[in-house]
Amino acid sequence: MQLKSIQDADLKGKRVVARFDFNVPLTKTEPRTITDTSRIDLAIPTIRLILEKGASKLVMISHLGRPDGQVNPKYSLEPVAEYLAKKLGSDVILSESAVDNGLKNLLQLPETKIVLLENVRFLPGEEKNDQELAEKLSQYGDVYVNDAFGAAHRKHSSTYAINTFFKNRSYAGLLMKKEIESLGTLLEKPSKPFIAIIGGAKVSDKIKTIEKMLVLVDTLLIGGAMAYPFLKAKGSSVGKSLCSDEDVNLAKHLLQADRGQKIKLPVDHIMADSPEGLPETCHSVNIPEDKMGLDIGPETIKSFSLHLKTAKTIFWNGPMGLFESKSFSNGTMSMAHTIAGTNAFSVVGGGDSVAAVQQSGEAEKFSHVSSGGGASLEYIEKGELPGVQALKYGV
Ligand code: AMP
Repeated sequence: MQLKSIQDADLKGKRVVARFDFNVPLTKTEPRTITDTSRIDLAIPTIRLILEKGASKLVMISHLGRPDGQVNPKYSLEPVAEYLAKKLGSDVILSESAVDNGLKNLLQLPETKIVLLENVRFLPGEEKNDQELAEKLSQYGDVYVNDAFGAAHRKHSSTYAINTFFKNRSYAGLLMKKEIESLGTLLEKPSKPFIAIIGGAKVSDKIKTIEKMLVLVDTLLIGGAMAYPFLKAKGSSVGKSLCSDEDVNLAKHLLQADRGQKIKLPVDHIMADSPEGLPETCHSVNIPEDKMGLDIGPETIKSFSLHLKTAKTIFWNGPMGLFESKSFSNGTMSMAHTIAGTNAFSVVGGGDSVAAVQQSGEAEKFSHVSSGGGASLEYIEKGELPGVQALKYGV
């Protein structure tokens, strides 16, 4: 079943209650300011469309951080309300609470147009998918829009239970629709060859994604610290590199399952004594006892790039090394430049790889940069998310 999009919705004169993912990073000290506004910026087209379609009110719901069901000023959406007001050039009223008693009266006033409800995770019911809370939230709107892809893997009151109260009156926002369509292309009709490149730190965190990729792709390139358990499982030495016994066991199973020999591993490395140490090239697959691998080496970059250049579809998750340090970022940046230079349908998902693509300055050249780390991986693993399912079929 197709997702119903707000593009097809009649919103004229309607009160719209909309869930967004404004979970932005803030500075740790006061005054708390937003350090990366991307998540809000990505929601702006949906907000504008709702207003252009003549909605009488827009009531926005979001969470920020993990306040665990308690009011905590550290996680107030105040900086988000200020940023939104500037960006939209209109007043954005921040409510005192998502279920504020005065809210209904406020919404009766003709001059009230855009309201941002205070952090919905200040309420204990949100993460419990509480029906009563969902009903209260539903009373602010005639129509429900969900554009919070980054929270769609959560079965929470404002993403899941709320759908109960909007039968045939719920829609996906523009970002949600683009995410589901782009990730859906990887799952349903990827042009071949399909190549995935997976990096990052822990096999155990991504085992389900790797298993799924082994089914979907023609070639699976593995780099970053993710590669060492695989190398060790194949009998190579990995020195002091990040590599847990649990991950080596998982890697052994995955290598056994890889009958088609789709998995390709690094053949050389950039290594150092410690993450703060001086980078040296290790021209062998084997890393000396007293060194740790911190990036993929030049031969690996060449070989991974050659593979990627043949692809018609690419999925990337996880950096190729400790890219936060300039000494060990070359592998990750090279992969970003190579993918950006292909004509493949390219999707990057997952927090750190998105940050890396942005750092490379090539984000615009990717077909899709997913806004949801956990949500994008879960969608790839399962082919569905609770928040999306509820939008499509109700609860
Ligand atoms: P993940 O969240 O699993 O994608 O992991 C991302 C983190 O893995 C980033 O902070 C990287 O710096 C780190 N990382 C990737 N490769 C290595 C490596 N070879 N050694 C240490 N850390 C790494």
